[in-house]
Amino acid sequence: MSDKMKINPIQNWSFYKQRPLLIAGPCSAESEDQLMRTAIDLVQHNKVDIFRAGIWKPRTRPGAFEGVGKDGLKWLRDVKKETGLPTATEVANASHVNDALKFGIDVLWIGARTSANPFAIQEIADALQGVETTVLIKNPVNPDLDLWIGAIERIYKSGITNIGAIHRGFSAYEKTQYRNQPKWQLPIELKTILPEIPLICDPSHIGGDRKFIYEISQKSMDLNYDGLMIESHINPSCALSDKNQQLTPLDLSEVLGRLVLRKPTSDNSQFMNILSDLRSQIDIYDDQLLEILEQRMIVAEAIGKVKKENNITILQSSRWEEIIKGAVEKGAAKGLSDEFINLLFKAMHQESINHQNKIMNEPS
Ligand code: PEP
Ligand code: MN
Repeated sequence: MSDKMKINPIQNWSFYKQRPLLIAGPCSAESEDQLMRTAIDLVQHNKVDIFRAGIWKPRTRPGAFEGVGKDGLKWLRDVKKETGLPTATEVANASHVNDALKFGIDVLWIGARTSANPFAIQEIADALQGVETTVLIKNPVNPDLDLWIGAIERIYKSGITNIGAIHRGFSAYEKTQYRNQPKWQLPIELKTILPEIPLICDPSHIGGDRKFIYEISQKSMDLNYDGLMIESHINPSCALSDKNQQLTPLDLSEVLGRLVLRKPTSDNSQFMNILSDLRSQIDIYDDQLLEILEQRMIVAEAIGKVKKENNITILQSSRWEEIIKGAVEKGAAKGLSDEFINLLFKAMHQESINHQNKIMNEPS
């Protein structure tokens, strides 16, 4: 199905003026005054394209602020009247969709917990049959690309063609500096499978702290994302949800002002020649890496053979610990991060085990 989707390119969307498309506004609508003051300040300091606010808040634990509900829709309608900004809110079921459409909300987004649930997505898709609107689909909380694509396909099948993907990171059991792990390779793979899908980064929910918004936004711009969705609150320290990650409209303008926007290509031939030279060098190293990996697997198979002859198990944890520890140390001296070495060596080790396994279990 995915190769047949005809998603409307973001350049054709009525809200799009330039890269990055900027969606900003508070995590939650809290009061009429908070919403209006935030919107007015945002317009004063930033080139906002779409104003966001959550009305129904999916909270991990009960008892937290769960949103103001339908009242917020009236406030959003007033914000649109006052500032002219198109509005966006999160929907998680059919009645949210119907209410939001009744109040003229321009963009509906589907949250990360909802994207992980095909029943909920199907219910939303059914409510959208025959409707013309824009739907942004956040990645599911778990790093499952098929689930994300499946959600996009369900919404597309309802007839919506203004569809975008929001990258908000993935939850993990291990604590890292960010609230949600970005796992940049997933959105990159999504873009490879669906080149036409607009990609919007949500640095607020990836970082979980306002101090990370700049670096995550810059990284997404360097990966040629089309837009940013950033939480902004008139008074973040009093916010009823996600207070650590919200920026005042003024602070947001400072962060955005520092972003460096690079172009994906250039018509400067001197630059293109240098780039092409460097890329040829990368290709040579990549070929060498593949040859070395092939050699490594040949040795792994030889190890499998002697282990089989001597009836020894494949996995020997002490040996593996020794390899990874040595590699992290040597890698650090070569400017390679722990995270990269761990990923690379785990993948190589798994592939070696697969090769050994094949040898040890093939009939002699
Ligand atoms: C939000 O955008 O405020 C939100 C709840 O996001 P997520 O679904 O990414 O957690
Ligand atoms: Mn939030």
